[in-house]
Amino acid sequence: MQNSQQLFNHAQDIIPGGVNSPVRAFNGVGGTPCFIKRAEGAYIYDADDKAYIDYVGSWGPMILGHNHPAILEAVIKTAQNGLSFGAPTELEITMAEKVKQLVPSMEKLRMVSSGTEATMSAIRLARGFTGRDKILKFEGCYHGHADSLLVKAGSGALTLGVPNSPGIPADFAKHTLTVSFNNLAEVEEIFAQLGDEIACIIVEPVAGNMNCIPPVDGFLQGLRKICDQYNSVLIFDEVMTGFRVALGGAQAHYNVKPDLTTLGKVIGGGMPVGAFGGKKEIMDFIAPVGPVYQAGTLSGNPIAMAAGLAALSELSIGDKHQQLADATEKLAMGLKAAADRNGIALSINYVGAMFGFFFTDEESVTTYEQATQCDSEMFKKFFHYMLEEGVNLAPSAFEAGFLSTAHTDDIIDTTLAAADRCFAKL
Ligand code: PMP
Repeated sequence: MQNSQQLFNHAQDIIPGGVNSPVRAFNGVGGTPCFIKRAEGAYIYDADDKAYIDYVGSWGPMILGHNHPAILEAVIKTAQNGLSFGAPTELEITMAEKVKQLVPSMEKLRMVSSGTEATMSAIRLARGFTGRDKILKFEGCYHGHADSLLVKAGSGALTLGVPNSPGIPADFAKHTLTVSFNNLAEVEEIFAQLGDEIACIIVEPVAGNMNCIPPVDGFLQGLRKICDQYNSVLIFDEVMTGFRVALGGAQAHYNVKPDLTTLGKVIGGGMPVGAFGGKKEIMDFIAPVGPVYQAGTLSGNPIAMAAGLAALSELSIGDKHQQLADATEKLAMGLKAAADRNGIALSINYVGAMFGFFFTDEESVTTYEQATQCDSEMFKKFFHYMLEEGVNLAPSAFEAGFLSTAHTDDIIDTTLAAADRCFAKL
């Protein structure tokens, strides 16, 4: 790790924490982050040329594996015509049509440049559309770092133990109501009191920012019903789950239709892209047709659209999601078996191409409380043992893991053999 260590030392002098996004700094696990030089398929290579099987996948986008030739070709070809125009292009229509075809609840949509922008814009739209100020989110869910949404947030906020960030006026935060994920009774209770003031519910349909917690039976359906009853907007934040738990996202997998959807990660194929969209009547509230303002200098950028479109097109060929689900199941079952063999209590959750494992003797983990009570010291050790073995897991006990179509049976077997040795050392 000599080169990574040198780079990290240098980076910390000029970039806060040496990183441009907090969890990358390994605060959740300690030690020196690997600086990455290149990536190919299921592997990333660090500054010391060490190869790692990668289960982070740039935190979600690389569902086809790193450096996929179809995406690379689309980027290079499109770049030859200019990098950005600040004017509409045909490519943006093609992209919007493709997203709508895969996620039909998105009758109209708009492109942005990150997941944060997508959720921030969707919240503003829901507030503008309903004329209400309050929003409801779930503890441990992360929806990017817009002010209203950094309240009891997951991901880095949870890893670093600052789920309510300084810098957010209490006057903003007071409009964000938070309840427990997978607890419909709490949602019903708060709506019974304040339902007419709540603009929207925003939810990760599979929570992926407090490790990986799927919805319990009836939870998402229940949220749909409550939103219908109180004329609140139901927003599925599918930045992580979109095109990942199924081609049509979690809404297809669980067969629940939100009013608005936010997307990110996979939709950009590795380029900075997000999108939000949904019912026509709501989306037509956005400027310039409607009064709710939202904009972006680089929104719909041609290179980003080309990369995203190539990713979605490639992902639509054959039944890649069956392959992804099978691979994820093999990994999950294998990890569980390896842990059992070594007398380590482990609980595993997985849906589609995302997974999470918890060091706990609880049989199933369905709540934020359970996730945060797991043995994080054991996770840290396991993480570093796996890294030594050449397996890159997310450097926090509160992040989901991701597979790609490049994770072959052989690669998963190699991972499981490494995990067996690492569990034995715990
Ligand atoms: N929503 C969810 C569910 C996410 O997982 C993330 C990022 N991990 C975001 C929103 C924010 O996306 P971005 O980091 O692109 O701003």
